[in-house]
Amino acid sequence: MKAYRPAFPTVSRDANVVTIMATLIALVVFAIDALTPLDIAVAVFYVVVVLMVASTGKRSTTVTAAWGSVVLTLLGFVMSHEDTYSIGAIARCSVSLLAIATTSMLVLRNLTATATLQEQVELLNLAHDAIVVHDMNDRITFWNRGAEVLYGWSAQQALGQSLQEMTQTSFPVPYEQVRAELLSSDRWRGELRRVRRDGSVVVISSRAALWRDAKGNPRAVLATNNDITGRKHAEVALERSEAFLRDAQRLSGTGSIAVRFPDGEMWWSDEAYRIFDYARDTVPSPEAIFARTHPDDLALVRGVFEQAAGGDPLVDLQHRLCMPDGRTKYVHFVAHLANTDEGHTEYVGALMDITETRRAQEALARSNDELAHVTRITMLGELAASIAHEVTQPIAAIVTRGGAALRWLNRPTPDIDEAVQSVAQMIRDAKRADEVIQRIRTMARKRERLAATVDLNGIVSESIELVRRELERHRIELRLDLAVPSLKVCCDRVQLQQVLINLIMNAMQAMAEIAGPRRLRMATRHSDDGQAQLIVQDSGTGINDEDAGRLFDTFFTTKVDGMGMGLSICRSIVEAHGGRIWAESPATGGALLQFVLPTDEGSFHEQ
Ligand code: ADP
Repeated sequence: MKAYRPAFPTVSRDANVVTIMATLIALVVFAIDALTPLDIAVAVFYVVVVLMVASTGKRSTTVTAAWGSVVLTLLGFVMSHEDTYSIGAIARCSVSLLAIATTSMLVLRNLTATATLQEQVELLNLAHDAIVVHDMNDRITFWNRGAEVLYGWSAQQALGQSLQEMTQTSFPVPYEQVRAELLSSDRWRGELRRVRRDGSVVVISSRAALWRDAKGNPRAVLATNNDITGRKHAEVALERSEAFLRDAQRLSGTGSIAVRFPDGEMWWSDEAYRIFDYARDTVPSPEAIFARTHPDDLALVRGVFEQAAGGDPLVDLQHRLCMPDGRTKYVHFVAHLANTDEGHTEYVGALMDITETRRAQEALARSNDELAHVTRITMLGELAASIAHEVTQPIAAIVTRGGAALRWLNRPTPDIDEAVQSVAQMIRDAKRADEVIQRIRTMARKRERLAATVDLNGIVSESIELVRRELERHRIELRLDLAVPSLKVCCDRVQLQQVLINLIMNAMQAMAEIAGPRRLRMATRHSDDGQAQLIVQDSGTGINDEDAGRLFDTFFTTKVDGMGMGLSICRSIVEAHGGRIWAESPATGGALLQFVLPTDEGSFHEQ
């Protein structure tokens, strides 16, 4: 560590030289006093000796010099006067002794005062702050160790220099203003920029106080200085990162929210205020959030707040907001438990405005539904022959039964019972035709997606009804392995039927050209992870490895007249219902297409 040099200038003369010189002077004075017949108070010159020794600052040496001078004065007196002691000689000796004693007392007191002052200076040097005193002409009069460390100049180099010039001080306001404030209020505090001895720039927090003399005239300024360069850089970095965060929040529509329980105290970022559309002076609170929450979602939001108050580690909530202008916003709030101090639990989280994403998702779902509808119509077109047969067959039966009924009635003795049976059969046939027509109409109708709990086995049977004729025409052997009891899924019945018919028709087409047996197996079961699984397996051409990865891609087809939309639509329908669809090539040949959907067990047990 650098050796410290005292800030106050001290006597730099070599103490030993001074002591030797003082001793020589003492001996000369003694020689003159004791050995010459001079009748003057020579011994008074011992005060010079005492003063010289005192200038070395050593108290004990000074005391020794004082006593030595007294002894030498008395010895000189005895030796120069042998046994004749005149009044004058005694008076001269007494004056000398008085002078030596007075001088000694004064210098000792001065030494004590200097030592005290020096101690105080040393204390100031212990301070970590830089302490600088300058006179009213800006000349440095005190420069402590902290100042040496901070600025790089030693006290010796700094003392007497102009503080502002030496450190190239720049004030935040014109210096005249600083000086005026100092003179009017005796105080000034602010931040300065200074240049160190090594040329580096340092930012200083300075607190200055004006010292006035007894008459009230300003005499000096004492300033304590702290290096806040690091803090300043950290502040700038913090401001920059806050600006980044603000921009990122603005651009991504994400606000920050912190909430503390049990008092419900909250903190919102600017973007959170913007999302909720509240003025910046609104006090953030759960009530303010409830006030903006869509009435249908209020119970949900309150419930999540209650769960959080109970200490749930994670909050993940999507809900709607009703804005004052009538708009609806969708928000997603995710928060985690950040702190559990002193009986408080604090959550910190992000609030995302997902309105745009939600709208885009809805638009996508709408166009998917439109596409599904179009492809359904196309599919029905492909099934037109079967459908026509399904309808014409009961109608033909009705005509036949009607003729029979007439014949029973036209008999000489009408057989009412037989006629009634024929009419009953006619009604059954008419109902069958009506059911087919209803099914077709349902499939063909354009309507909103409608989620309901449906019976998976029921959907399989209904779909088969629509393609039964096709299966017969292609001489396809159908095997059903349906789960008992049936599985319930929450889905749009028509869309799920569409998926099934699509898979069945693909299977039929894959088996159209093969020579071997045409087998179609449809199975429903609980998948290994507890979902509802539906399998459509055929003994057709199968799927080659090359195509396996592209089967569900839009417009991928290997058929001459294919559109490549069927499986792609199937996938978007299944995924929109939270499920997954995939294809496999079983070792036994053919293709196996299957999908899983989340089960709707709750509804299942209720029924
Ligand atoms: P498209 O039927 O118009 O070709 P899809 O999307 O329904 O469109 O089917 C895409 C392709 O997947 C078909 O062209 C066919 O190559 C293949 N594929 C679908 N189902 C089967 C199946 N059961 N067996 C063999 N290949 C199939």
